[in-house]
Amino acid sequence: MSTTVLTNAPEINSPAIEKQTTVGNYFVSNYPPFSFWKAENLGEFNDAVEKSPKVTNPLGIYLHIPFCRKRCHFCYFRVYTDKDSAAIRSYIDAALKELGIYAAKNFIGGRKPKFIYFGGGTPSYLSVDQLRMLTDGMKALLPWDEAEEVTFECEPGTLTDHKLKALREIGVTRLSLGVENFDDHILEINGRAHLSKEIARAYGYAREVGFPQINIDLIAGMVEETDANWRENVRKTIEMSPDSVTIYQMEIPYNTTIYKQMKAEGKLEAPVADWETKRNWVAYAFVELEKVGYTVSSAYTAVKDKKKTQFVYRDRLWAGADLLSLGVASFGHINGVHYQNQHDFDPYVARLQEGALPVHRALTATDDERLIREFVLQLKLGSVSISYFNQKFATDVLTRFAQPLQTLKDWGFLTVQEDIISINRDALLQIDRLLHEFFLAEHKNARYA
Ligand code: SF4
Repeated sequence: MSTTVLTNAPEINSPAIEKQTTVGNYFVSNYPPFSFWKAENLGEFNDAVEKSPKVTNPLGIYLHIPFCRKRCHFCYFRVYTDKDSAAIRSYIDAALKELGIYAAKNFIGGRKPKFIYFGGGTPSYLSVDQLRMLTDGMKALLPWDEAEEVTFECEPGTLTDHKLKALREIGVTRLSLGVENFDDHILEINGRAHLSKEIARAYGYAREVGFPQINIDLIAGMVEETDANWRENVRKTIEMSPDSVTIYQMEIPYNTTIYKQMKAEGKLEAPVADWETKRNWVAYAFVELEKVGYTVSSAYTAVKDKKKTQFVYRDRLWAGADLLSLGVASFGHINGVHYQNQHDFDPYVARLQEGALPVHRALTATDDERLIREFVLQLKLGSVSISYFNQKFATDVLTRFAQPLQTLKDWGFLTVQEDIISINRDALLQIDRLLHEFFLAEHKNARYA
């Protein structure tokens, strides 16, 4: 039986597409926006970690490794390029202390992590000895024997065959290679630390070592990107035949070097392609990947073999899993409470040396906010199940979101059939701006930082 509460209003044009890339965060990674997470809510976070978990909710671990060889001009993450081995050692000790404190809390409830994610920064910046010390320590505190996926982000220039073998032995199942672009000039002027020959070498080693899944990250719209170069990036990617390809559209948040330069020059427009061009580039990449058998599995990702290639971290997180986040500035979600750690290295390490958790701000999401969060994040997959939300939140999303669903339908983006709400490719390519339609009024124009 078909479920339709949306009227067949005549199709009207979608809202004017923003043209130039101006400063600000575009990517929606969480909800409510971070600017609503506050230090005064820390008591709620402390209560949440003392409560038993919902037994059905899986647990994952994220660890932020904030070291990089160079700071890319478009980077908005908390990273350090000046830390020596003693500082890195103190960071590893602090992260293990942090995990040790959490491992004794009630919210663990006997659970073992189902997924583990090393993000950054550059996790592959760590030496083999540092990696072994870190991961042996983590496993001793919360064993990985139930982990369905261990993801590790890498910068190609930091990888050797020795390190890749160690990563596989440690248990990494998905290696994510931050290629971004294959052109040396573009890599260089965007401040990347690696060059194209390091990509080829690292990828070759990684294939030899035999990771179950190798992902390649690309960015559409780096400074000086052109149509011809983008087509060449797609061609080279297809030639390498990775298990999955993730493509982000370049955004210029406030804390990037590019924005600082724009500000110094009094410019409002970033020196990168406009949004329409970036969407066209991603659309082109998806079509080319589909021609050789890939399937588009989210707004950012195409996978070679849909049955084999899983994204456990993404899918669990977007379905409300508990995420125990460790490391400087990292953000997590435990028993319905969002939290983020201290933004800076020294206070983060110092708090843990004192034996205290380094949490800096938190927010207890209401049931409605958790519903919105899961709905918008799952919409990035291209479709959501109505019955999933009925079962989990006892809410009919067709009624709860009647207005924004109608708006997206009027714009020609959305259809409802049986149990499934689907968006088309056009919508998928601009999903992050469309998601704001589902936000509560007070969050619609919030700065996403
Ligand atoms: S490698 Fe990634 S985390 Fe490091 S500076 Fe570049 S964009 Fe930022």
